[in-house]
Amino acid sequence: MANELRFDGRVAIVTGAGGGLGRAHALLLASRGAKVIVNDLGGSMHGGGKNSAAADSVVEEIKAAGGEAAANYDSVEEGGRIVQAALDHFGRIDIVINNAGILRDVSFHKMTEEDWDLIYRVHVLGSFRVTHAAWPHLRDQGYGRIVMTASAAGIYGNFGQANYSMAKLGLVGFANTLALEGKKRNVLVNTIAPLAGSRLTETVLPKEIIDNLKPDYVSPLCAYLVHESCTDNGGLFEVGGGFFAKLRWERAEGATLRLGRPFTVEQIAARWGEISGFEKASHPANIAESMQPVMTNLEAGP
Ligand code: NAD
Repeated sequence: MANELRFDGRVAIVTGAGGGLGRAHALLLASRGAKVIVNDLGGSMHGGGKNSAAADSVVEEIKAAGGEAAANYDSVEEGGRIVQAALDHFGRIDIVINNAGILRDVSFHKMTEEDWDLIYRVHVLGSFRVTHAAWPHLRDQGYGRIVMTASAAGIYGNFGQANYSMAKLGLVGFANTLALEGKKRNVLVNTIAPLAGSRLTETVLPKEIIDNLKPDYVSPLCAYLVHESCTDNGGLFEVGGGFFAKLRWERAEGATLRLGRPFTVEQIAARWGEISGFEKASHPANIAESMQPVMTNLEAGP
């Protein structure tokens, strides 16, 4: 194909690539010429145990198809080791796809601190550690592409997933600021909220839906985000089952009250339609735009 988007010469880390979405991302990148570190701890979907078989089998698949890959079995909590593996095997690092994940679903009144903490450690601290270790290499070479893996559960909430929702939306905030800090050095950071059949979803969705939500349907968007031709930065994308769409914040028209006198609860009640209605919405895209009405009100004075 003449316009094939390729990754020749690029080195990618895909965490949690021993199965599900990570495996699909790794296979796609490797099929387009990337050298891939296939990281996977190989534990259970609830975070227990470890096993090298998952990462090994994906490396075998990639090699059998003529690609280049190496396995790494560290937890993402040991992010520095994963980045070191990329440097040891392939001498550089260009792409990080933070994908590893587990679930500890339980309604909040039964949630233990361990359920909360383990989810935080794998999703948030793990993504931090891998990204933090890769960051100086990406900055110094003036090139990098990073993807965080969020979830609709974080964006919209989902029963029984308070811990997971916290972690997944935390990654969006993390990516928003990394996108600002990395931009000048051509290190671009985006986030996906995928939907796919995998061991994480097979217990909650019917089999016929799972069969039609192939992880392979998610990977092309993820791969585009980590390609050098993609200049999107700080974006959040819903992707799954053949649907692909970017999300953004929407803000109600809002109400502005003149400064210089105490505001009352009754004033808020009276203006509730403007404060909470989206008929005249705007879409602030950064902190400066977000602060605009406040600054205008400060300038207007009391
Ligand atoms: P999966 O269980 O098939 O894959 C996750 C992989 O991460 C597993 O192979 C697992 O061994 C690995 N892993 C777990 N803990 C690890 C650790 N500490 N270090 C290294 N590897 C570890 O599930 P999946 O559905 O492919 O999930 C991939 C990512 O997508 C996760 O972050 C998940 O939260 C997210 N996600 C998935 C869906 C979906 O519909 N499948 C929806 C929203 C978000």
